[in-house]
Amino acid sequence: MSIRESFCPQCGEPSDSGDLCGKCRVGRTRWMEAAPRVEGITCPACESRRTGAVWQDTPVSREELARELALQAIRLVPEARNPEFRVSLWERSPNRTIATISVKAILFGVPVEEEARVEVVWRGETCDRCSRISGGYFEGVVQVRADGRPLSAREREVAARISSEVEERLQEGGARLSFISRMTEDEGLDIVVGENAMGEEIARGITGALGGRYTVHPKLSGEKAGKRLYRITYSVRLPRLQKGDVIEADGKYLEVRETGKRQLKVFHLGTGAMTVFPPDSPYRVVGNVRDAVQALIAYTEAGVAGIIDPGSFATKEVRMPRWVKVEAGSHVLVLQDQFADRIVVVG
Ligand SMILES: [Zn+2]
Ligand SMILES: [Zn+2]
Repeated sequence: MSIRESFCPQCGEPSDSGDLCGKCRVGRTRWMEAAPRVEGITCPACESRRTGAVWQDTPVSREELARELALQAIRLVPEARNPEFRVSLWERSPNRTIATISVKAILFGVPVEEEARVEVVWRGETCDRCSRISGGYFEGVVQVRADGRPLSAREREVAARISSEVEERLQEGGARLSFISRMTEDEGLDIVVGENAMGEEIARGITGALGGRYTVHPKLSGEKAGKRLYRITYSVRLPRLQKGDVIEADGKYLEVRETGKRQLKVFHLGTGAMTVFPPDSPYRVVGNVRDAVQALIAYTEAGVAGIIDPGSFATKEVRMPRWVKVEAGSHVLVLQDQFADRIVVVG
């Protein structure tokens, strides 16, 4: 029995295959290549980054981006196994970062190591979104108005907040052109949007939170590549009465509980009964339960409570509704009816 040993034809060291040994193959292989220079294109206004023709938001720092770009500049042959990269960065100037990348790998069973230097050149370019915003581009307007009265501060605030939430959610989902180009307050609130689908979503969100309804009014604004372009106005009409409004109608105090499309459901603050408020009935708005304040009960006697008026500190006698349980020393929530100089117990 004889053992046939094979040798590398180049260096004479043992080689299983009888072909070139690992070391000699490594010597003949250019296993790593690096592009000496890469571009990092970012928007100076919003820090979005461009890759090819595609802009995207980058939640990472410039340092992380430089690292990523530098690594993309490196090419390894497929035989290089288990590569490990170490990147060190040097900010040479505001628009130049020098990356030194050291790469370790196993090639033909032999550990190898090499270093490359990549220059990251930073270039600022206004992104698609910022150029649309600065150019005043828009596709739709959400007009928020209230029926027969000005918008309340709270309604403006809720509508603005919902709009921003929709914008944030859509952009996080990658719809980067779903931006609010401006919000203006005139007779109501106008939310000017960069994309129509977004206007619809905002209108739906606002009516969902504040009641009322919206109508859609498209208007032809031009043509692009044979396609008709529309600007759409979403006209949001908030109900005359808001949830929580306390009204006086025919001598009764009523709290608005539901502002549906057709009917208004109210809670009779005197009896505790829920009823439908007939449309077109006259009424007077006293306030909203959100603004109710605590008042102390001084005494109770035969269904009447002496309540200390939190405005004047005078004691006022109020017939207590049966749905409110009180005793001397406890508190109730009240609203001032300035017009009738009375206090209204709301809870
Ligand atoms: Zn060899
Ligand atoms: Zn931008």
